[in-house]
Amino acid sequence: MQDNKHNQNTLQDYFRIFAGPCSAESLSQLRTLADFIRQWNSANRLKIQALRAGAWKPRTHPGEFDGYGTQALEWLQQIKAESGLTVATEVATAHHVECCLNAGIDILWVGARTTSNPFLMQEIASALQGCSLPIWIKNPISPDLGLWRGAVERVAAASKGLVGAIHRGFGLYNSAPYRNAPLWEIAVEMKRSCPHIPLLCDPSHIGGKRELVAAIAQTGVDLEMDGLMIEIHPEPEKALSDAKQQLDLKAFAQLLSGLRFRDMHGSTARMTQIRCILDEIDDELVQLIGRRMRLVEEIGKLKKASNLSVLQMDRWNAVVERALNQARTQGLDENFVRNLFNCIHSEALRLQQDSKKEEN
Ligand code: PEP
Ligand code: MN
Repeated sequence: MQDNKHNQNTLQDYFRIFAGPCSAESLSQLRTLADFIRQWNSANRLKIQALRAGAWKPRTHPGEFDGYGTQALEWLQQIKAESGLTVATEVATAHHVECCLNAGIDILWVGARTTSNPFLMQEIASALQGCSLPIWIKNPISPDLGLWRGAVERVAAASKGLVGAIHRGFGLYNSAPYRNAPLWEIAVEMKRSCPHIPLLCDPSHIGGKRELVAAIAQTGVDLEMDGLMIEIHPEPEKALSDAKQQLDLKAFAQLLSGLRFRDMHGSTARMTQIRCILDEIDDELVQLIGRRMRLVEEIGKLKKASNLSVLQMDRWNAVVERALNQARTQGLDENFVRNLFNCIHSEALRLQQDSKKEEN
């Protein structure tokens, strides 16, 4: 039996929240947010760990507001001195890192556009050589787990501080209703393959619209992410960047109060029972696939002996059609079954080609 009392709140206690405006716009804007964070933290168990604010903004079009740069760092420095809060900002070059080290910024993050560029990542990693400043790497714009992991590895090899990752969604041609498609499976794979790298969810850049942010944040919690980075602004409609996605303080407080932390590791007796059955089904599935592939290899040899081509499109169309008919009777999604069979088919073709090679 699990220790409910112990497990109940652990996730919530380790959960990190970084909140603040997309861009640092003025000292008074940051002060309003810092006051809110301090009040929130003194009254709530779920803490906001850092005030985030962009100093240098990577903008899509020239002429757009691109941040107050070192002036913004001075504001962050002052807010830190006044409030004792931890402050975080984005870096995109070695020069930015040096400025942040000089200004006593506590936490850095790397934006999606920068993660995509191994030259810049190496520059940032080298600037952090031997430093213990925590740094968080957002996923690259393209859905490329290797690029994301490579950026994390570069920094981890140089820096002595914590290196984390942030899932902010991926730029696809059509990502509606999101600004950036979440492609949760990539975030889950990041977590599975790099369990020692904490992973935050950035629902603001995934959603791109205020209305979507709370539900995406909850999905991040449900997927056992280690925290959230959220954009907030005292007057979001007037924000100089990302105005549509920033939350005002009331909406942000509602979001935080509404987050539901469930016990991720427990199970009820019924779940354990179902999992045993699922394990048996999975064993059978793999055994069946093994049997299918052995027959496929046998056919491969017959094709070779009769000088028939490996790919026989009519036969394959009939196989898929049969499977889709079966799928309908089981209420299974057609695309899912089609993808599954495409996967089986490409392995079958590979095996038949290999058996051809062996015999040649
Ligand atoms: C940001 O956090 O404000 C930002 C620019 O994010 P991203 O790199 O995810 O676009
Ligand atoms: Mn932003």
